[in-house]
Amino acid sequence: MTGRLYVGGEWRESSSSRTYEKRDPWRPSEVVGVYAAASAADAADAVAAARLALPAWSSLPADRRAAIFRIAAAALDARAEDVARDMTAETGKPLREARGEAARAATILRFAAGEAWRPVGEVYEPSVPDQTLYTRRRPVGVVALITPWNFPAAIPVWKLAPALVYGNTVVLKLAYEAPRTGLHLAECFAEAGLPPGVLNVLTGSGSEVGAALVGDPGVRAISFTGSVPVGHGLRDEANARNCRVQLELGGHNPLLVMGDAELDRAVEAAYAGAFWSAGQKCTATRRILVQDAVYDEFRGRFLARVAAGRVGDPADPGTEVGPLVNESALRDVLAAIERGRDEGGTLLTGGHRAHDDAYLIAPTVFEDVADHTFLSCEEVFGPVTSLYRFSTLDEGLRRANAVEFGLSAAIFTRDLRTVQRFTTEAEAGILHVNSQTAGADVHVPFGGIKGSGWGPHEQGRAAIEFYTELVTVYQDAPAE
Ligand code: NAP
Ligand code: MG
Repeated sequence: MTGRLYVGGEWRESSSSRTYEKRDPWRPSEVVGVYAAASAADAADAVAAARLALPAWSSLPADRRAAIFRIAAAALDARAEDVARDMTAETGKPLREARGEAARAATILRFAAGEAWRPVGEVYEPSVPDQTLYTRRRPVGVVALITPWNFPAAIPVWKLAPALVYGNTVVLKLAYEAPRTGLHLAECFAEAGLPPGVLNVLTGSGSEVGAALVGDPGVRAISFTGSVPVGHGLRDEANARNCRVQLELGGHNPLLVMGDAELDRAVEAAYAGAFWSAGQKCTATRRILVQDAVYDEFRGRFLARVAAGRVGDPADPGTEVGPLVNESALRDVLAAIERGRDEGGTLLTGGHRAHDDAYLIAPTVFEDVADHTFLSCEEVFGPVTSLYRFSTLDEGLRRANAVEFGLSAAIFTRDLRTVQRFTTEAEAGILHVNSQTAGADVHVPFGGIKGSGWGPHEQGRAAIEFYTELVTVYQDAPAE
């Protein structure tokens, strides 16, 4: 597979002529594609193309913009299996999850198309006669979208769809590790007849092309999903030039299992939350806090579930846990496991590389990890989770909340009072009652609180906040 940049409606090589090879995390000796490595000059060209396209696109009636989305969604459905297989080949995401994500990307486009018919303002009672007083939401302008590899179809789409439907034009920076998946999206929009320059798509390294977008004065807003250090760095730089910034960062998501929980469902949710996508989800379950009375029972059933899990080739549709995305991720996660043991954690299962070639780590479960240590506080982006024992709900909530992050949290219980306490006190933007910490519907807001985010939430009706500017209009009628 090969891929070029999509700038101003044309497919082109990097201005530097540089390319890079993408390898398969399951078979690292295999090159799965060669992609253009965009330069800072390409980023500048993409922003210029987006600026040129802005006036015509933003003045097009929203339902005409949305009509293109529906065609693009159909194009995406038609190639969903290819998108899924390519996603698996380049990121190692198990095919069963990649298929779900490809389908979901098309659903997001359809949802966003419907937003074209929603109100974009409010009418108020005037304070003087013969006045119409109202608000209007208008596009922000050129927006840059900087996306990670772990949801390489869903995250680009849930950013670009609202950006475009509200009349902005876009420069999308795909993750280095997932170029092919994102280029499928560009191809679908090109097929659907999107006007040139409305969506520009760049592949290449974040430190070069991402950084160039952040510094470009033509970019009026940046939506970023990724790691804390990169996000904070670009926020500070972009905010300094009054550029709007939205960050979706990491998490350290707790799952609380109360004494009255349906244990088998809780075990399934813990397994899926901790280990699907090899734990490489911002919403993955990093801590499993289990109430005293059921701790031993839960622990036994959970370890049995881990032992029965299907770990291996991500292209096998039965596989539940595949490899990590690349060698440096493998090294980082193995180092974190080592640190967990050094700091007193007991390894109950896993903890090692599980394949000679593939970047595969066996699903790993710790216990006896102290609350203040690395594993309990820092996001380890891999198949690693820890069990904690607690006695009262007060204690469980306090410890669940004792991290800097606040992305998602889950509880298993049958007790309504416990649910009420949890939904009031759990410090996270996404709360799950009797389901796993990961997972997001397309039509509701998504985003973290505390250290997990910055700026308005994404998706659903929340997306309008970031991708539009609110203006207030005092419209007085002329005298007769
Ligand atoms: P990352 O290294 O921060 O990369 C995210 C994006 O930023 C990539 O496109 C990357 O490009 C780009 N980038 C890197 N350096 C840059 C710079 N100096 N200026 C501008 N852009 C730059 O994150 P990751 O390792 O791909 O993803 C894992 C992290 O994302 C985890 O912490 C995870 O929790 C978080 N995440 C959060 C959410 C959420 O919604 N809260 C969802 C998914 C993931 P390259 O790919 O070329 O490096
Ligand atoms: Mg990175």
